[in-house]
Amino acid sequence: MSGKFNGRVAFITGGSRGIGKGVALRLAEEGAKVAVIDINEEALNEVQTEFTEKGYEIYTKKADVVNAEEVEAVVQEVVSTYGAIDILVNNAGIIRDNMLFKMTDSDWQQVMDVHLKGSFNAARAVQKYMVDQKYGRIINISSTSALGNRGQANYATAKAGLQGFTKTLAIELGKFGITSNSVAPGFIETEMTKATAERVGVDFSEFVKFNVSKIPVARSGKPEDIANAVAFFADEKSSFVNGQVIYVAGGPKA
Ligand code: NAP
Repeated sequence: MSGKFNGRVAFITGGSRGIGKGVALRLAEEGAKVAVIDINEEALNEVQTEFTEKGYEIYTKKADVVNAEEVEAVVQEVVSTYGAIDILVNNAGIIRDNMLFKMTDSDWQQVMDVHLKGSFNAARAVQKYMVDQKYGRIINISSTSALGNRGQANYATAKAGLQGFTKTLAIELGKFGITSNSVAPGFIETEMTKATAERVGVDFSEFVKFNVSKIPVARSGKPEDIANAVAFFADEKSSFVNGQVIYVAGGPKA
């Protein structure tokens, strides 16, 4: 397999399904070796089998992004297996939606932990290898919810926080040949949006239809749409694009 990510190693958190899997697939298709961590063991096994059958080099490990020690250990293992980590995609995410007056401490904390602490843990763990090799691409998955979204005080805060994190890493790490950028998806059909439909008690196809009615390109997003933007930031040739947030939402968002 040859492509623009030939010889590159990509580390994708929460990459066993949905957007993360789409990203892993795109990078693997273009030649990258991919390391996927996730807490969903069943989905991890499936992705391992699927990628291996396709002839892609894949490493999978059950690890929780919130646990710094686990993340450090797995990053180290990937570097000893593949020799480097060139691309980090902070994608692992959860939602615990509720209106502010009903939101629990745990709803708030879990969302902060997975998105913010998780991205911090993974970025801190990989940066030392990226700095040593004077090359790296860090891509954080934000959301249009960063602009504010009803019922998502926790998630919107975390996703806006990730944009500040992205820009700060861009400033700190740029001189080491490392760029940091963010992709902010709009409505993407995944298990996450299926869970939202279920929570609000709407059939998923109706939920998709409702969301599509507000999207200028008149269709819903797919994991491939996000993977395409990630692949742009991950490209060696994108070395002058740093600290940016691209909204991939079928229309203007910011
Ligand atoms: P998804 O289908 O739920 O996939 C997320 C994956 O992350 C799941 O496999 C999940 O495991 C895993 N995960 C959750 N907590 C984790 C942890 N602590 N450590 C490691 N892995 C963990 O969601 P998605 O829709 O693909 O979303 C991917 C990213 O895009 C998220 O950051 C999300 O916030 C963002 N996003 C999504 C949309 C959208 O419309 N779908 C829009 C904007 C932004 P479990 O299956 O066990 O939960």
